[in-house]
Parts: sequence; structure tokens; C-alpha cells
Amino acid sequence: MYDVAIIGAGPGGIFSAYELLKLNKDIKILMIETGNILEKRHCPIDGVKVKSCINCKPCSIMNGFGGAGAFSDGKYNITNDFGGTLYQYIGKDKAIELMKYVDTINVENGGEKTKIYKNDNSKIKTMCMQNGLKLLDAEVRHLGTDVNYVVMGNIYNKLKDKIEIKFNTTCEKIEDKNGSYLIKTNNGEFEAKKCIISAGRSGSKWMEKVCKEMGIETKSNRVDLGVRVELPAIIFKHLTDELYESKIVYRTPKYDDNVRTFCMNPYGSVVQENTNGIITVNGHSYDDPKLRTENTNFAVLVAKTFSEPFKDSNGYGESIARLSNMLGGGVIVQRFGDMINGRRSTEKRIQEGFVNPTLKATAGDLSLVLPKRILDCIIEFIYQLDKIAPGTANVDTLLYGVEVKFYNMEVKINENLETNHKGLFVIGDCSGITHSLSHASASGVYVARHIMENQ
Ligand SMILES: Cc1cc2nc3c(=O)[nH]c(=O)nc-3n(C[C@H](O)[C@H](O)[C@H](O)COP(=O)(O)OP(=O)(O)OC[C@H]3O[C@@H](n4cnc5c(N)ncnc54)[C@H](O)[C@@H]3O)c2cc1C
Repeated sequence: MYDVAIIGAGPGGIFSAYELLKLNKDIKILMIETGNILEKRHCPIDGVKVKSCINCKPCSIMNGFGGAGAFSDGKYNITNDFGGTLYQYIGKDKAIELMKYVDTINVENGGEKTKIYKNDNSKIKTMCMQNGLKLLDAEVRHLGTDVNYVVMGNIYNKLKDKIEIKFNTTCEKIEDKNGSYLIKTNNGEFEAKKCIISAGRSGSKWMEKVCKEMGIETKSNRVDLGVRVELPAIIFKHLTDELYESKIVYRTPKYDDNVRTFCMNPYGSVVQENTNGIITVNGHSYDDPKLRTENTNFAVLVAKTFSEPFKDSNGYGESIARLSNMLGGGVIVQRFGDMINGRRSTEKRIQEGFVNPTLKATAGDLSLVLPKRILDCIIEFIYQLDKIAPGTANVDTLLYGVEVKFYNMEVKINENLETNHKGLFVIGDCSGITHSLSHASASGVYVARHIMENQ
């Protein structure tokens, strides 16, 4: 009998284990993880032999120690303005306090040389406001993909002999035994007094099944759709040098829709991402100047919230991503100028352009994929961004599609992040209330402290 079973070794699971151990070194913790130990996580795409996703199971990018965060850009945003709605459950001050606490742990474990950026520059804020754009408030620690990996490795070394971690083990079913939980996996059955589920985005379908089986209420009505923009780093340099990542929001005049920049990667690379077999686009950057490219990339996302009776917002996003996969065999890339002129991009036009693509994608036409409303919002936003970063709307600016931000269905949990089953907690991205490293990690610390205070 374990004291606590943790399903998933992403940031949520890791930080709950870290905090539980810190508060009680004798606690018996079992951690179950579908993927591999950190050093065995290798994506086979090498650009030569394997050029695109071959649907490995488990996927080394999304699964394994460190979760989806292990090869991420390692941007820990300390804010309640985006990255999740954890504050609605635990309060704004508590959420910020915990995100700051997580930052100190990252710094202690290898992140000490990394920089924290603050966007309290009133000049940039004013410039945005004067052009109908809102710059969101945040502090961001940029670990970078390289340092993030080191931090995860150091935390793993601290945990590995003190808790039991079962890699390559997938939790299939959880049963409430009235006072304990039976955890059924493909690698045996285990029992624990309490259970923390932190299965992330990749575990969202399974989480849905658990909720159905255990009678836990859920809701799902939001998806963000858009493209990843890539342009010469110099165009955004005045913003990225100062803020690293600028989260800018715009309400489009035509539809009154919310569009925003998301996941900005100065001197970074555009990458493809595989979510449940669907290829979408993402981006990252490195802290090490030697690994930098000449481009900056960021997502432009349009938030789509559906009203009743439609409930399957992720299904809607998936269908659009599938359409781009069908037309382009994966990610499609188009020059902004070609999009405006209503023509497809070709390999030749991309090559002749002034922006060197960092991702090998199929040159094509995103207007055949994205709904008009979404496309109009993206175009209006790019023209608006051009006013604060002239050159954004250049003909050669590259748009990769589609970028989809799936929101996990929201699981009904209380202010302790506990379900209607006592001792069963749902944290991190699989709860639907966090969508980021910092919020997922903070939710892990929060639940660990709650468990220790209520033994
Ligand atoms: C390429 C990329 C870049 C990103 N960059 C950033 C960034 O810079 N900043 C930011 O804030 N966020 C970023 N994110 C998002 C961030 O990684 C997630 O928000 C964060 O990892 C969520 O943490 P989590 O613990 O909730 O879930 P995850 O990190 O997804 O971890 C969940 C773990 O659970 C395991 N699992 C799932 N189901 C089961 C099961 N049934 N049994 C056992 N194990 C299971 C999975 O294998 C996985 O390892 C990025 C994501 C990606 C993919």
C-alpha cells in the first residue's frame, strides 16, 4: 500500500512528488509513467533518414520523465493572465506564490544562470495600447530547451532513489476502494491511499474515460486555432530583447474575436508536434547562443469558444488539423504575401523569399484549411502587429499551419483540486485548468501541501 500514487511524470506529477518528499521524507510514493526515463527519450526525426513523424508509441516528445515539458522551450511564465485558470480555484496570490516557489526550485536545480524577463516596460505597453493591442503582464524565466533538460535531469536524480517510478507503464483504470485506490496498469496492479492524476495533454482521452467510469463531471467548449509565424528575428528584436516573450492580445474589429500571440521563440526553430496522431506545428528556442537561428517564431491563435449544444471543441480543432495533414501530408507553409494574393505558395517562391524556413514543411495554401473567420482574424492581427513591429506583414513572412491549442475538457474539482472521490486529485493540463509548465507545476505543489496538511 503506497501513501500516494501519481499518474504521469510531467511537471505536475514531478512537483507533487518533490513537495511531498520535502514535507515527509518517509512518504511512500509510486509514480507511473507511460514513457521513458529522460535519457532514453529520443525523437527519431533526424531530417535525413526520418523526415517526419512516424507515430512512435509512446511519443518521446510528449511522454516520459519531464512530460510534454522536457523538450519544451522551458518558459516558466509567472502570471495569472494566461497559462491556465488555477487562480480561480486557489486564489490569485497563492497561485503566484507557488509559481515563484517552482521557479526557485528550477533555479536551484541547474537554472541559476538563466534570465528572468519582466514586461513592465511602459514604453512597449503604451505603444501596444496606442495601436489597439494589449500587452499581458508576466514575468518569464526562460530556461531554454537545453537548460530545461538539465533541470529535469537533476530533479530526477533527487527523486529516483526515494520514490518508486515505473516507466513504460500505463495506467488503464482507477477504482475507488473506499479509503484507497486500485491502480490497474499494463504492468500490474497497485494500491494507494491517495491518487494524483497528472496525465497531461497526451493523457486527455484516457482522462475522459476515467471521468466517465468514475462519474466525475466534465465540460469542453474551447479550442484555439491559428498559425505559427516565422520572420527575421530583427523585426521583433526591440520586443524580444526586452521582454523575451510578448503576449499580445487583440480584439478583431470584424468579428470581435480574441486573437493573441503565443509561445514566442526569439532566434528559435519551428517544429512539428504530434498529438494523438495529428501533426500540428509548434516552436522552441535554445538558451545557448550557438544553437540560435536567424528567425523568431510565434503562434497567432484565435480563441474559439462554442455555445450549446456543441460540446466537442477539440474534435473541431482536430478536424481542421487533419484537413491540413490531408492536403500537406503534415504541416503546410505559406508566405503571407501569397495568402493575401489568394494564391498558394510553392517550393520555389519560399526558396526565393527572404525568410529561410527552419522547418521543412509542404508549401501550400492555408486558406483551403482554415475557416474564413479564423483566417480573417489572423490577417487583421498581422497587419496590426506590423504597426508595432514593422515588417511583420512583409510578403515573405512565413505562416505554418495549423497550430492548434487543444484544451483538455475541464474536470470538475473543488478548491483542493480534488474530485468528488475523496483523495483523488486531478492536476496539471489533464484537469483542463492549467495549460503551462508553471501552472501545472504549481498545481502539483498545491496538492502535495494539501495532502500533507490533511493526513
Ligand atoms: C513542444 C512543446 C513546447 C512547449 N513549450 C512550453 C513553454 O515554453 N512554456 C510552457 O509554459 N508550456 C509549454 N508547453 C506546454 C507544457 O509542456 C505543458 O503545459 C506541461 O508539460 C503540462 O504538464 P503536465 O504535468 O500537466 O502534463 P505533461 O507534461 O503532458 O505530462 C503528463 C505525463 O503523463 C504521462 N501519462 C499520460 N497518460 C498516462 C497514463 N494513462 N499512465 C501513465 N502515464 C501517463 C505522459 O506520458 C506524460 O509524461 C509546451 C508543450 C510542447 C509539446
